Amino acid sequence: MAAIQLKDVVKRYGTGKHELQVIHGVNADIADREFIVVVGPSGCGKSTLLRMVAGLEEISGGEIRIGDRVVNDLEPAERDIAMVFQNYALYPHMSVFDNMAYGLKIKKMPPAEIRQRVDKAAGILELSHLLDRKPRQLSGGQRQRVAMGRAIVRQPQVFLFDEPLSNLDAKLRAQTRLEIQKLHRELGITSLFVTHDQVEAMTLAQRMIVMNAGNMEQFGTPEEVYHRPASTFVASFIGSPP
Ligand code: ADP
Ligand code: MG
Repeated sequence: MAAIQLKDVVKRYGTGKHELQVIHGVNADIADREFIVVVGPSGCGKSTLLRMVAGLEEISGGEIRIGDRVVNDLEPAERDIAMVFQNYALYPHMSVFDNMAYGLKIKKMPPAEIRQRVDKAAGILELSHLLDRKPRQLSGGQRQRVAMGRAIVRQPQVFLFDEPLSNLDAKLRAQTRLEIQKLHRELGITSLFVTHDQVEAMTLAQRMIVMNAGNMEQFGTPEEVYHRPASTFVASFIGSPP
């Protein structure tokens, strides 16, 4: 596992008169094994921040550290992270096992180790009895768990989640939330979880980063953010008592 440090992280899109700064210098020290939720309204820069940690988006200023490495110039594959998206696409023609094993096969991992990693992840996600099925033979919740399994088998240092629950109905969302909490309890992988949903943030976060228009308004536990909001924005967004 690894700690994550964000130091004066800045992001600008475009150049010249089309330049637009969307992240204005974010600072955060995230501890090893912590579960952090990044929350804020649509367009405030949550995905951009996450994609910079993932290496999917270049950083325009500042520094990102994962563990003891500055990762600014590292490719996503070199960063030891796994990302779970909102629109997870499983390979329809492949079994659950092969969907979960795919990324490891590409890395030419020995089949015995692949088998061991997939079996372990399937156990945690309660998918062991479904490994031979195709995605179309699964429920929505099971498919979501296969998508998480694909991330787990890589045994990453860091998990990044970009609104993985927002396309699910309320029941499945609550269920998957519990699943993610269980996963974090069992594996203790440092996680950054992005959502625009305050309730989701309050239930999942050990600490939360509240963003507004590219600024980090507050970084604290749900209790701190709720009872001692750092700004009127935070108070109204979280719905703190007046
Ligand atoms: P969120 O995930 O919080 O909804 P985003 O990180 O997706 O917010 O977007 C933050 C801001 O950056 C928005 O104003 C969005 O329009 C802008 N933005 C995102 N991606 C790009 C891009 N590739 N080019 C230009 N602007 C972008
Ligand atoms: Mg987003």
